[in-house]
Order: sequence, then structure tokens, then C-alpha cells
Amino acid sequence: MNPKCTNCGSDKIIEGLNIVDNAADYMKQNLSIETIKNPNAFLFKGSNKYELKAKVCGSCGKVEMTIDNPEELWNDHKRNKKT
Ligand SMILES: [Zn+2]
Repeated sequence: MNPKCTNCGSDKIIEGLNIVDNAADYMKQNLSIETIKNPNAFLFKGSNKYELKAKVCGSCGKVEMTIDNPEELWNDHKRNKKT
């Protein structure tokens, strides 16, 4: 079954698109959500990155963003809240 647009109901959905930061041509990178691994560490906090993927409706242009590993992000979120 094809996904349908939540805005206009069209089935012209383009999935899995990268969202690229084009600010500098020589350092293109995909936009991502970043979380801090060890917020209490003094120096080596570390980070986890979750790349954003876009789904675009080819009829009305609505864009939806998702990440591939939401459970990991949720775990990060819970861990960081505790501390
Ligand atoms: Zn649409």
C-alpha cells in the first residue's frame, strides 16, 4: 500500500530524501538531530547523531521529517533527563 499525504490525500509521495545543508559547497552534510551522550562529563561529552529523512508530497509539497532510529533517540532522551 502506498503512503498517502496527510495534508491533501495524494499518493504522490517521495520518500527517503536527504536534507542537505548547502551553506558551504565543499562541506555538504545531511541535517541531523544531535544528542549529548554524557552531559555531565567535563571534556568528552560525545554525541549521537540521528539523520533526518524527508518525505515530500508531489502534489501539495508538504514535507514530513523522520529519523531511522527513534528508539535510540528516546533512550538518549530518558537517560539525559535522569541526570
Ligand atoms: Zn499533499
